[in-house]
Amino acid sequence: MKVTVLGSGSAYGCPMVFNSWRNADPSDERNRRSRPSVCLEVAGKTLIIDVGPDFREQINRNRITNIDAVLLTHPHYDHISSLPELIRASALLGHNIPIFANAETMADLRVSYAFMFRVDEGAILSWHEIPDIGEFAAAGVKLRTFQVPHHHWHCSAFRCGDFAYLTDWEGISPQGLQSLQGVKTLLVECNNGLYPEHNGHSDLEAVKRLAAQITPQRVVLTHLSARVDYAETAAHLPPGFELAYDGLVLDI
Ligand SMILES: [Zn+2]
Ligand SMILES: [Zn+2]
Repeated sequence: MKVTVLGSGSAYGCPMVFNSWRNADPSDERNRRSRPSVCLEVAGKTLIIDVGPDFREQINRNRITNIDAVLLTHPHYDHISSLPELIRASALLGHNIPIFANAETMADLRVSYAFMFRVDEGAILSWHEIPDIGEFAAAGVKLRTFQVPHHHWHCSAFRCGDFAYLTDWEGISPQGLQSLQGVKTLLVECNNGLYPEHNGHSDLEAVKRLAAQITPQRVVLTHLSARVDYAETAAHLPPGFELAYDGLVLDI
């Protein structure tokens, strides 16, 4: 399995609008982060997790030529706002792009992206509701999912074999912990890095507490805000931890 971090940034990217870098060093290219997205290549299939505002550029930059399925974690704009791009993507590919999301996300999309549920521009999109916790298959790829609390929403986490992607979280249930047992590579949101905040996101200490309960071999921090400087944060990481950057490839 090959996992590519298409976007390692948080909702506002880095730099943010007006070229604002906040705490991140502009001279370090690893701090240049687009919005959160992951490409999962497994068993000959290409799955994209989340399609935020930088989707088109991410697909083009990483020379991705096919999409077999799209998984959505939750309906915040940094994870879903390029959904309309899938209309053209599907037409160009000439095949269906199935979109998977939990019931809460799907209910929100039916309002905020109502036109997407009745498109007819040569595109074939299909919508598939996934369980709040349990297993499902996307393009024939078996995945396990569970939800984590995030602001007043829930966010779907995904596990595929030894790999798990957990984004936008501020807590985890015993069932969630159970779902992560045995994971060897954990790609996990660490939005606040060294600077804890009550904003629906996690920080390095929270990730360390989580990792202590599932003991993965490799912990990769992503969904990093502009407060997170790569070098400054890297100096505080325990063994087995690393920071993601745009284009990072994980061979699982
Ligand atoms: Zn987010
Ligand atoms: Zn969010």
